[in-house]
Amino acid sequence: MNPRTPMKRRNRCKAKLRLYPDPILKAVCEPVGDGEDVSDVIRDMMHILTNSKTGVGLAAPQAGHTKRIIVVHAAGCRAYAMINPEITDASDDTEIEPEGCLSYPGIYKPVKRFWGVMVKYRDEDGVERQVDFCGFIARIIQHEIDHLDGKCKIGE
Ligand SMILES: [Zn+2]
Repeated sequence: MNPRTPMKRRNRCKAKLRLYPDPILKAVCEPVGDGEDVSDVIRDMMHILTNSKTGVGLAAPQAGHTKRIIVVHAAGCRAYAMINPEITDASDDTEIEPEGCLSYPGIYKPVKRFWGVMVKYRDEDGVERQVDFCGFIARIIQHEIDHLDGKCKIGE
């Protein structure tokens, strides 16, 4: 114990970024129930994502939780969470671009993704939404949803 680091401060947020080969990265996540309070999960995810220098998205297993939640933080907008995200439609166009993952530091691989996706999700206020995303944000969302099924193309 270091007396200069009070317990209170160290315990404020216990969330730690999970790195390969942590087995939680292979977990298939459970849907969030109606009215279920997941604010702790989202807080942990925001903490990790905003403390990472380069992260643009995070999935719950990377923060040690097995719930179907992702957080997106693209340039120019505040980070926001998507609960039970589901791709309901996708563009015919695809794009191959290099992609990385916070849980696989230093690895970048070209990954083929849909250019646009329609995503059904619940927002942090409990509102059901269906939104079209394209380009980089669509890529982030596709990457993070893979994590909810225990997959990551960077680690394959
Ligand atoms: Zn990832």
